[in-house]
Amino acid sequence: MKSKQQFLEQKNRLLEYWKKFKIINSKNILKAFRKIPREAFIPEPLKSQVYEDHPLPIGYGQTISQPTTVAIMTQALNPKPGEKVLEVGTGSGYQAAIIAEIVKPGVVITTELVSELAAIAKNNLYRANIRNVKVFLHDGSLGFKKEAPYDRIIVTAAAPRISQHWVEQLKTNGVIIAPIGSLTEQELIRAVKTKQGLKTQSLGDFVFVPLKGKEGWFE
Ligand code: SAH
Repeated sequence: MKSKQQFLEQKNRLLEYWKKFKIINSKNILKAFRKIPREAFIPEPLKSQVYEDHPLPIGYGQTISQPTTVAIMTQALNPKPGEKVLEVGTGSGYQAAIIAEIVKPGVVITTELVSELAAIAKNNLYRANIRNVKVFLHDGSLGFKKEAPYDRIIVTAAAPRISQHWVEQLKTNGVIIAPIGSLTEQELIRAVKTKQGLKTQSLGDFVFVPLKGKEGWFE
């Protein structure tokens, strides 16, 4: 078992790397990563790997993304204090926790399809003392209309396309971050909703677990 000191050193190395290579260039975002304990979102037997830079299984065939992927997605989303953000794919709750820390007193609405994971995420968030995340058991490929509109939307599962529901539930000038492509490889897309339509940009190739549901790969 690793000591607290070893965790801290590993975490600091990751943060230094993100700063040096400008993966994160916002002080507020770095602060959130420094503050939120990723270990609170990892199943007990895997805790010794918490600050290694690779994805980890969280059960039910799902994974918590590699730390650097969470960093890239959070910087691309670039949430601001006071905003309301929708996350599709709660998983462990870690990505939601990072965004919640940045947007406070704003809120994160996050949706998950696997009821066991939604329950685990709620518990993880509670234990990490994060109170501004609401977890819903819901098909996020349809967005979450009840809480719309959103300032930003982040999708953490691989989608075949940008769902029209997400676009409709986003405010003008709002941002969507989503991995779009095939089941085996996706491009991370940053899309801005302008009055003239969606302006998209690719942030590179990634591999995510599939988005399920009505607008996903399988129902
Ligand atoms: N953001 C997570 C990682 C998510 S992995 C974290 O920080 O740990 C992707 C998650 O999306 C999985 O838990 C999967 O069950 C969920 N998912 C897949 N399709 C979904 C859908 N249509 N609606 C909501 N969640 C979905």
